[in-house]
Amino acid sequence: MHELTSSGHCICGKNKKFELCCGQYLTGRQHAKTPEQLMRSRYCAYALGGYGDYLINTWHPMMCKQLVAEDLSIRHHQWIKLEVLNKTQSGDQGTVEFKAYYHDQQGAEHVLHENSFFQRVAGKWLYVGANLENKI
Ligand SMILES: [Zn+2]
Repeated sequence: MHELTSSGHCICGKNKKFELCCGQYLTGRQHAKTPEQLMRSRYCAYALGGYGDYLINTWHPMMCKQLVAEDLSIRHHQWIKLEVLNKTQSGDQGTVEFKAYYHDQQGAEHVLHENSFFQRVAGKWLYVGANLENKI
C-alpha cells in the first residue's frame, strides 16, 4: 500500500498530497486540529501498516489499555477507500461517521460503518471509541 492513490492524492480520499494531508500527522509534525483530520490519519495508519505507535498515541489512554502497538502495526485487511459521511464537533468532543471499505484475506469486499467518538485532552484530539452500525 502506498500513501497515494493513482491520482497522487492521500489515500484518505482528500484531494491533497499525503505530506500535506495525513502524512504530517502520522510523522508527528502536526497534531490533528479536528476529529475528522485525526480519523482520516488513523485510517491511513491502518491502511499503510507500521503505525501502531501512532494509533496508540491517538487513542484515549483509558480505552486502549489492552492494545499493543506491534499488533496495531499489522495490516489485517487491504483497505480500499474511506468515505466520511457526517461529522460533529462541540467543544472538546466530536464524532465522525464514516464507511471504510476493505478486502479480507479471501478478497471479499466488506464495509466498516462506524460512528467514532473523539475527545480533546490537553489540546490533542484522541479517539475514544465507536458505535458500529450493523446496517450498511
Ligand atoms: Zn489524508
